[in-house]
This record gives sequence, structure tokens and C-alpha cells, in this order.
Amino acid sequence: MLNSAHLILGSAIVAETPDPAWGIFLAFLSHYALDFIPHYDGLENKREKDKENKVIDYSMLRYDIPVALLLILFLYIKFGFNLFIFSGALVAVLPDLMDNIIWWRNISKRLFIWRWLFKIHQLTHLVFKGNIKYIKIVGIMTQVLVIVASILWIGF
Ligand SMILES: [Zn+2]
Repeated sequence: MLNSAHLILGSAIVAETPDPAWGIFLAFLSHYALDFIPHYDGLENKREKDKENKVIDYSMLRYDIPVALLLILFLYIKFGFNLFIFSGALVAVLPDLMDNIIWWRNISKRLFIWRWLFKIHQLTHLVFKGNIKYIKIVGIMTQVLVIVASILWIGF
């Protein structure tokens, strides 16, 4: 999923969990759970090449980054600079930061634990096949739903 969906759910989990440490751990796990929901993040069609570690499609970032910044602003207005909330956001996007940025991935894949997490990430990242137009519509809607649900869960 896109960073926006991961970061807002991660923050919501920390906000709604009484123990922040436990919340941050759950926020990290939420990444893998969310990737299991059918979604479109621009990577799907590049999957074969992606396995070879060559090409990653960053085109969805032009939507993702502005939405992510707005969500960070929302979190800041709601909670101030709350280190727990922002840690939840960070750990929730961490698997993608570690695995999808090529120059960094080549280093992170050599780290013992991360190599296993990378495999889990590949396994849980559900790729669904079919008409690309349909995939885009459904795959973007699921992410919008996650973002809206997370905001409603946090409350205004
Ligand atoms: Zn991911």
C-alpha cells in the first residue's frame, strides 16, 4: 500500500493502544496486514523486474507524498509533536522504506533480521491480477477506505 495509508493507520493504532510500546509494535505489524489487502501502488506491473531488484515504479508517489504530508499535518494539529504517534507512523512505513528504495535495499537485505522481514514482506504483499483499470479503481478505493477509517478512528 501507499505510505499515506500505512502511516495514518500506524498512528491510529498507537493513538488507540493504551501502551505506546505495544502500539508501536502493532503499528509495525500493520504494514504486513495492510499489504495483504488488494491495493494498487504502481508496483504490481513491475513485479517480475522488481524481483530482480532492477525497476521500481515510483509514479504513485506524486499522489502519495502530498496526501502523506496532509496526514502528517493532521496528526500534528491533533496530537502536537507526539513522539509515540510519529514513531507509529514511521514504523508503519518502515518495511517499504527498507525494501523499496533500491540503493538502501541493497544494504538492508544484507542485515540478518531484515532479510527475513523482506521475505515476509514479499509473501504478504498481495498482487492481484486482471484488468488494470479495475485493479486501479478497486486498489485505490481500498486505500482511501483505510485512510478514512483511520481518521474516523482517531477522531477529529
Ligand atoms: Zn509494503
